[in-house]
Amino acid sequence: MVNAFKMVQSQINNAAKICRLNNNVKSIILEPKNKISFSFPVKIDNKTEIFHGYRIQHNNVLGPFKGGLRFHPDVNLEEVSALATWMTLKCALQDLPYGGGKGGLTINPYDYSQEELQQISRGFTHALHEYIGTDKDVPAPDVGTNPQIMDWMTDEYNKINKGGASDHIKSVFTGKSIECGGSQGREEATGRGVAMCVKEWAIQNKIPLEGKTYTIQGFGNVGKYAAKTMESFGMKLIAVGDHGGYVYREEGIHIDSLIDHINTIGSIKGFWGPTNGYHCAEPISADEFFKLKTDVLIPAALEMQIDETRAKIIDCQLIVEGANGPTTEDADKILKDKNITVIPDILANSGGVLVSYYEWLQNKQNMSWEKEDVIKKLDVKMGQCYNKIDQLSKKYNCTMREASFIYSLQSLEKMYMNKGLI
Ligand code: NAD
Repeated sequence: MVNAFKMVQSQINNAAKICRLNNNVKSIILEPKNKISFSFPVKIDNKTEIFHGYRIQHNNVLGPFKGGLRFHPDVNLEEVSALATWMTLKCALQDLPYGGGKGGLTINPYDYSQEELQQISRGFTHALHEYIGTDKDVPAPDVGTNPQIMDWMTDEYNKINKGGASDHIKSVFTGKSIECGGSQGREEATGRGVAMCVKEWAIQNKIPLEGKTYTIQGFGNVGKYAAKTMESFGMKLIAVGDHGGYVYREEGIHIDSLIDHINTIGSIKGFWGPTNGYHCAEPISADEFFKLKTDVLIPAALEMQIDETRAKIIDCQLIVEGANGPTTEDADKILKDKNITVIPDILANSGGVLVSYYEWLQNKQNMSWEKEDVIKKLDVKMGQCYNKIDQLSKKYNCTMREASFIYSLQSLEKMYMNKGLI
């Protein structure tokens, strides 16, 4: 199977060919600038465990490296390199003054208590601190990390740097809790941005969303908030899946009940039990989930979830990629032949980094913006970004993924040219 890094390289090569990108720029973007990999010890239950972590700093021609930290058992150098590359392209797509980076730790966070996770997060920050900084590299949450982990890391970073230029720098991490300097609206930003893409697509194609159906794979930060926003459009969630299983309910799944269930149990598993009036969704297999007829499908879990086999059975009008890299290139070709529109990851899930940027700005100015203002800015920016890519895809007669890559690569090309670096 093609790994995620080979996939993003191939996506870059493909878009570069369409827009005749400068070859030197292409060569630069195809490889990460810095690959940092490290190990560090943490004492757990009187035993010393060694943890393995990475930070890939892909490109910083547009500004400081920016990107999440993933805690997951499958984290490896190739995966983090791919995610860092997508970050460079995503920030360029949203015209943000950031480059791309990504980090990860190869652990299953669910195997550890909160106290242990805190020690691991602080150890990770020790190993990372010399490479990051508010104008150097700004990490954020991703799969398996959350605002609490960002709070611990920000605190540890500032303890290490005590006596430096500033006593407490909040803007070195984004995605923190509100109490520790996080932004209003950051938690829901990625999922809401995904839903705003659905809304914009519906407006452009004159499709009323009321009563339209959708399915979601992954009901974590992104999936949950996409569902909450799409519920407010009058749409109906008919199936959902996570690492604990998949469920289906023709009349629509009650989203708040599902959120309560996951908060209690840790996954969808058991949501089919008759615990209360709403818990009557029926369990289905992953294959049955992807085969379902639905208007919109949202992959919001991990990479490579839609492969050739699944692309062949998918029956929907629109796929909006909440996750990074959920569709393989072979699957992409099949979806195109089936006339299914795909709103690609670097566009669809860019709401997260957008509001991370707002958090960074607020921290630097020692201000905090009202939630209403943040959400309004997010909605407007997502709409504008969707429309510029929609128009570019018409100009080049290409898919929205190709158009998104073209926009980002051309922005990077202009920057290299203007700086006289190529
Ligand atoms: P999360 O950890 O909050 O949720 C991940 C979800 O995926 C969970 O519901 C989990 O059960 C599910 N999942 C994991 N393995 C699975 C499997 N094998 N099959 C089905 N479901 C599985 O993570 P998140 O922050 O919601 O991120 C989800 C995706 O969105 C990732 O690709 C991430 O890189 C991307 N993303 C997240 C953000 C953000 O702001 N959180 C921003 C941009 C992109």
